[in-house]
Parts: sequence; structure tokens; C-alpha cells
Amino acid sequence: MDLRRVFRALFGVAAALFELLLPHRCAGCSGPDGPLCTWCRDRLDRRPRRCVPRPRCPQVWAAGPHDGHDRRVLLAHKEEGDDALRAPLGERLARVYTATGWSGPHTVLVPVPPRGRLPGEGPVAGLAEAALAAAGGARAGRTAPLLRYRLPAPRQVGLGRRERLRNRVGVFEAVPSAVRVRGSPVVVVDDVVTTGATLAEATRVLSGAGLRVVGAVVLNESRRREIRTVPHEGFTRGPPRAESPCP
Ligand SMILES: [Zn+2]
Repeated sequence: MDLRRVFRALFGVAAALFELLLPHRCAGCSGPDGPLCTWCRDRLDRRPRRCVPRPRCPQVWAAGPHDGHDRRVLLAHKEEGDDALRAPLGERLARVYTATGWSGPHTVLVPVPPRGRLPGEGPVAGLAEAALAAAGGARAGRTAPLLRYRLPAPRQVGLGRRERLRNRVGVFEAVPSAVRVRGSPVVVVDDVVTTGATLAEATRVLSGAGLRVVGAVVLNESRRREIRTVPHEGFTRGPPRAESPCP
């Protein structure tokens, strides 16, 4: 038996017991009505918009900015492992996915793989599942963990775009079963887009396996100055284009 799975299951049981014993604070305001009080849920930005174009990335859509309240709630899910936030954040991501027009029974949502865990595990895979359920289930598509790490991934925090791109090249590979979805529209899912290095590499690998990547959806978009000034093919140097909120 895989010992890692056993330990993970035991950890899950212990975490569930711990949550039963302690009151769940709100991830947004630390108030008593956790995991996310009505006031904080309503404050999350839910206006799907196209992100500023990133070099080598497909079209990316986000639900809100990666700062303030939106960032705090996402980090509670991502870094503190608060699984209770999966449903409200999944619902937020579902709005983005639906707004893109890519939703459909043949669409395949591919989560960016978790570092050091099996494909299909981790917060992004959970978000993709929750988003799909909120978007209509099988009518909206399906999720498939078609990417995995092939190299240990150095952390991206604090690096510029060029370093992030270099860091990401070659870290992913497509799983063998990816060939089964050739011809289907593929949408890459992640929680945050910053420079776009991760989405660019995921798209490169999936496209290299013969898949048709139509775009990517994320919860939060981080706007760093270097993103707005790096020129690339099809992207004019200068100020960012105005956001295009979904109707
Ligand atoms: Zn709150």
C-alpha cells in the first residue's frame, strides 16, 4: 500500500476532527462566521475579465485582482489549506469559466499540477472540480489532470519574468492519457496569474502533446509593472489595455 496515501488519509481525518473542535473563523475578516461570512463573500470581485496579454500565454480570464481582500481569501485556501473555501472560490471561478464561452460538454479543464503531489491533488485541482460543479457539471465539461511535474520546480516567488520563464521550461510533462482528448478544447486552470510563465509552459507542453488549448482561467490576476512593459509579438509596448468586464 502507498504509505503516502495512508498518511494523507490519516491527516485528513485529524484535520476534520480539529475543525469540529474549533470554531471556523472567516478567512476575510476573522469574524466568527467562517469559512467566509456573507459580507466577505459579497466583497469578492466577481466580474470576469480578460487579463492583460502575457507572452506565449493563451487568452487568460480572471475573476479579480490579486490584492487586498481577494488575495487574502485565496491565500487562506492556497497556503493555509482551508478546504472549506473551495466551494465559494469554485463558484467564483465558475463565473469566469462560464463568461469565457468555452464551457461545454467536450471541454477539458486541466489544472496546473501541484508541486510535490500527485496530479489531481492539491488546491488548484480542487478549485477546478468545484468550479465545474458550480458551472453545470458534465454539461460544462470535465476535469482531467493531464500535467505533472517531471523536474523539481524551483519557487517563483520574488523572481522577474525572465527568471520565471527560465525556471518553468521543462518542468511539466503531459501524462500518457492526454492523447485521448486530442481534438477537444482544453482550458488550463490555475489560481493566480502573475507573469504567465506557468501558464505559458503548461500551454506549450499540452500543445506539444497535440492538444488544442483554447485559453486559461484563474481566480486572481497580479498586475506587476514588468508585465505591462515587456513587448512581445502581438503586444504593443505601452499602458495595458482596459479591462473588458464581462457583460
Ligand atoms: Zn468575513
